[in-house]
Amino acid sequence: MRLRTVRPQAPRTWTVELRCQTGGLVLVCQHCPQDGRRVAAESARSAALAHLALHARSDLRAPHLRICQCHERGCRWHRRHRGCTGPIRLLLACERGGRIWRLADACGACAAATAQAAIVPDTVLAVPLHPLPARPRRPRRPRGPGERVRVSEILSYLAAALPADASAGARLLALQCALRMNAYMRVEFSAGLLRGLCIDAEEACHELERARWLRAVNGPGAAGVAAELRDATLLAQSPARPDRRRAAEWAVRTGCPARIGEAEPWLRLSGVYLAAHSDPSSGAGQRECDRIIRDCGLHDQGFHGVLSRLTANGVLEGWRICPDSGDVHWTLAPGR
Ligand SMILES: [Zn+2]
Ligand SMILES: [Zn+2]
Ligand SMILES: [Zn+2]
Repeated sequence: MRLRTVRPQAPRTWTVELRCQTGGLVLVCQHCPQDGRRVAAESARSAALAHLALHARSDLRAPHLRICQCHERGCRWHRRHRGCTGPIRLLLACERGGRIWRLADACGACAAATAQAAIVPDTVLAVPLHPLPARPRRPRRPRGPGERVRVSEILSYLAAALPADASAGARLLALQCALRMNAYMRVEFSAGLLRGLCIDAEEACHELERARWLRAVNGPGAAGVAAELRDATLLAQSPARPDRRRAAEWAVRTGCPARIGEAEPWLRLSGVYLAAHSDPSSGAGQRECDRIIRDCGLHDQGFHGVLSRLTANGVLEGWRICPDSGDVHWTLAPGR
């Protein structure tokens, strides 16, 4: 009888560095250092994300074979917490003001405790999208997770991809762009659709341009806007476009001022986020406070104030913060 030796698998953690060298920025990967390449400053962030995504995609592994890489390294990437728990997800973290980017498997507790980090949805990395599907059209069934999951995953991803101080209007617009873009990373909004978002679309668009996340091709103006996204990671989203578009429409409906009872983008973004993370049948939801604050960019908005106003407006039936875990538990008002 032959004994089989188990070959240890490479750890699922990857790091790239953006180095300033004479003549510009160079993207250096710890795992393929020979491939250091020059990147333009404006696209450095998305080049780093895209490269890390490439590594993660080439090492897809069954969930039970994934372990918390943060724990493996003594949890040095974050402040102290009560120990590893929760499902293992890919966590994207940035350090040293965006010079270092790390993508690693981490448990829910470590993910919540890591500063400047966000969970990258598995659906963003699953299968590369092939441009120009030449198959004949036939009725199709929706595939993959439902609208809520798609919206929650993209909002979480945007927390990593956009600057931490991105406005709520910019996040709402970026969510729509990510869900509606085509295989060439192009997206078009009619004037009516832009109005339906109830944000200062022009300002939000300029903000995303300043963050080098998109480039306006036409507009924004009276006829709407056409833009090209510069975040190459989004190209690998697995959900097909009709399913993504349905999720985009769900987000518009859920976040419209008439439903939230307020026009303020912060409240509408938080309302969409909480609805996306609620159980559709019971309306109950639970999440780490830190994570909601990060994913919704609520650093300066007063987290308790936002929850209280959503309750006063009849979006939430109630909420409480668990003193032990630091989690917030909420229930959507009936019919939400
Ligand atoms: Zn590499
Ligand atoms: Zn940890
Ligand atoms: Zn952990």
